[in-house]
Amino acid sequence: MRAPWWMKGVHFSCQSGCGRCCDQPGGIVYLSSDDAKRLAEHAQLSVIDWLERDARQTHDGRYVLKSREEDGICIHLNEQKQCGVYQVRPQQCRAFPWWGENLASDRAWKKVKENCPGIDAEDAIIVDGHTIRLHVFADRESSKGFRTWPPEPRRRKW
Ligand code: SF4
Repeated sequence: MRAPWWMKGVHFSCQSGCGRCCDQPGGIVYLSSDDAKRLAEHAQLSVIDWLERDARQTHDGRYVLKSREEDGICIHLNEQKQCGVYQVRPQQCRAFPWWGENLASDRAWKKVKENCPGIDAEDAIIVDGHTIRLHVFADRESSKGFRTWPPEPRRRKW
């Protein structure tokens, strides 16, 4: 099987003060159970109380971060376009722009590149393929999400 195009590495460096990837109305951030624990601890709340305050459930029951009612943007993005929970942000936010759907085709990647000045930026470093692959897996894991707290154990597929 041929290695994916990004396995040879991609030039990227997140640009300070940018925040464009979060400044998207209607964006959805799926939460892993570890995200919920970490963010609840940061907010000094129980996970149940934090989920009630900062998360909602999609039509199929998975927990996602809440967005502001007035513009559909993440509740944690402040007026300076900075993330208010950056140090403990969800795994899916950390994994951007290395989401499977972004890397799936040239067309998808070109679209991400139009909105993310970090890709091929002048100060970009090469992010190696193994690191990218870890982000792709993390994004995929987060997308599976959880629907109850405490989360139900996953059924093994034999
Ligand atoms: S759009 Fe790209 S450069 Fe801007 S904050 Fe997001 S990841 Fe960083």
